[in-house]
Amino acid sequence: MKVRAAVLERVGGPIEVQELDLQVPQPGEVLVKVLATGVCHSDWHLVTGDTKHPLPVVLGHEGAGKIEILGPGVTGLEFGDLVALNWAPSCGVCFYCTHGRPALCAAYVGPIWQGTMLDGTTRFSRRGEPVYHYSALACFAEQVVVPAVCCVKMPPLFSPEIAAVIGCAVTTGVGSVLNTAHVAPDSSVVVIGAGGVGLSTVIGAKYARAGLIIVCDPLESRREAAVELGGPAVEPLPQTITGLSRSGLTGVVPLSKVDPDLIKRLTEGRGADYVFECVGTPALQELAFECARPGGTVVLSGLSPNGSSTNLPGSRIVREEKTVMGSYYGTADPARDFPRYAQLYHDGQLPLDKLVSHRYSLDQINDAYADMLSGKSTRGVIVF
Ligand SMILES: [Zn+2]
Ligand SMILES: [Zn+2]
Repeated sequence: MKVRAAVLERVGGPIEVQELDLQVPQPGEVLVKVLATGVCHSDWHLVTGDTKHPLPVVLGHEGAGKIEILGPGVTGLEFGDLVALNWAPSCGVCFYCTHGRPALCAAYVGPIWQGTMLDGTTRFSRRGEPVYHYSALACFAEQVVVPAVCCVKMPPLFSPEIAAVIGCAVTTGVGSVLNTAHVAPDSSVVVIGAGGVGLSTVIGAKYARAGLIIVCDPLESRREAAVELGGPAVEPLPQTITGLSRSGLTGVVPLSKVDPDLIKRLTEGRGADYVFECVGTPALQELAFECARPGGTVVLSGLSPNGSSTNLPGSRIVREEKTVMGSYYGTADPARDFPRYAQLYHDGQLPLDKLVSHRYSLDQINDAYADMLSGKSTRGVIVF
């Protein structure tokens, strides 16, 4: 069948909407009619070349849709099911899957980064030549074929837009708080970068009943969104008062840059209990370390460019007993976590609807990325 999809031909872009051929699902796969796909920075990393990937590729990895065709041997899914798509499918039998860490599944990492289905071939093609799939999903397309293991059932009348953002930003951000760091009530939390993942981290920190949440982002629109999601706003210290303890306060302090000295003053001179670096920039990861108190935890959840490295002082990691943790996809078990986040949203405990600020058609995808980069949108979603 013919489908329209957003294709990246070369590093540097642009992203082009093209008509592609889509093959029917093979054993263990399903065809999904895509309803909504979030505009996430990770796709942009392919445009800039920070993430290396075979090209041409159909982008999109934060999606939700309805099952339309079941491939041979698929069980547990039915025609018409609303599903959120998991971009890190897991095999269920390897060491990591059987030890509660399916986001680290070793079995499917290879094919996913080759841009193919789990059997090493693509379902998209153009004039007989393969077109690759980003992260097994490629859901900036009207219809996609995905591994059935990527599909997590959502309640039938659930919002496809919310289901989509649960598929990446929410699971990465909220999961980094709840699953990776296990943030304790009343603790101080710094969130560096207030894009989709950072704002989801704020939502998670508020849900975990953190005390002070200090959000650092150069864009005022994102700082305002962070206050709306995690507030009330707490003003940074007046210039005339130094050494004032702000412990016991609850709310969000918006900062335009990462300022370890100010963050120490906001946390009784110690530094924060938890620092989340949600951007993936080595310089910010190094600053994150400075913002954590001795005995505190630094969580790196932003995806860094392939091959980059971060210079952290080993001597101080030991002497100050700081813990540096990686958090990949929020240490998720999507089959467990997606329905949980959906339920918490339904119960009014996670304001995920406030994450989605802009909606676009597939043809507006370059506008959607421009708005993400300028900070005009908090989370844009392509709706089909
Ligand atoms: Zn993403
Ligand atoms: Zn596995």
